[in-house]
Amino acid sequence: MEHRFARHHVLPEVGPEGQARLGKGRVLVVGCGALGTHTAEALLRAGVGHLILVDRDIVEVHNLHRVSLFTPAELGQPKAWAAADKLRAIAPDAVVEPLVAHFDGELAEEWVPKVDAVVDGLDNMETRYLLNDACVKHRIPYVYTAVLATYGMTMPIVPEKGPCLRCVFPHPPAPGALPTCAQAGILGPVPKALAAVQAATAIQTLTASPDLRPGELFYLDLWTKRTQVVEMQRSPSCPSCGQRDFEFLRQQSGTALLCGDVVQVRPRRPGELDLAGLAQRLAPLGKVRLSHGLLFFQAGEARFVVFPDGRALVHGVNSPERAQSLYDQYIA
Ligand SMILES: [Zn+2]
Repeated sequence: MEHRFARHHVLPEVGPEGQARLGKGRVLVVGCGALGTHTAEALLRAGVGHLILVDRDIVEVHNLHRVSLFTPAELGQPKAWAAADKLRAIAPDAVVEPLVAHFDGELAEEWVPKVDAVVDGLDNMETRYLLNDACVKHRIPYVYTAVLATYGMTMPIVPEKGPCLRCVFPHPPAPGALPTCAQAGILGPVPKALAAVQAATAIQTLTASPDLRPGELFYLDLWTKRTQVVEMQRSPSCPSCGQRDFEFLRQQSGTALLCGDVVQVRPRRPGELDLAGLAQRLAPLGKVRLSHGLLFFQAGEARFVVFPDGRALVHGVNSPERAQSLYDQYIA
């Protein structure tokens, strides 16, 4: 019987030795939207032996126009769980660990040092700066990738061998300064195209390929078919990789405006919520439903998804302050 990775074995860029390295590789996938899941699927099919998937969100109907792994059957399920189920069916021998959690400094410090590479499935810059800090601190390669509208860009970050994210973009954009994919839209095939480039870069990283070029920023517009390659340089004054001051790892924000005009509210004190008890208390105030270990609650225009750790995603409000106030009103 032919070997599953026969076509990699004959490829000089991978070969049996590269394939063995992929099998031993551990990759952290931060974000399980289109970009993250397409990258995860490509890496798993390529033979990467261990994936850790992190996402705090649930599958929503507006994800289905671009995420191959999700079907209407997964609506309402946590994205990390739904993706892990599909991926395990593709490669039953691989280890796939889903984490339904907000990617914060604590989680980054716990998981980044345990992997060989990190890939980007994020939808916001705030978390990318935190991820960059963690990867530079622990000297773990990170493939930065971002998509919006009809285009995207990607760059391998190899700490001490090339620039980091803050060398290239020294300051995060002010809140609201960049359009989100809910505002600007996203062409369905774009995340898959950039995920393919990102997966190839991660494979180069795991196989220690001499063709990996740290700091090479690749830009692709899928609509105009224009591409651009720019060599980025390290900045000696970079706070992260130059001065090793990891300020984003230290920051804790209570609320964050997510892609899709959703506000996430974190509890002021972490702990386990009794979702069943909360559902009983909320029943007289609006529509409540418990499903897949989550609580769904609607009161007027505001829709809540509450997680067992006390986090809530608030849909249908236009400001983090309003979301915090509704959270305090109903959940806290
Ligand atoms: Zn830097």
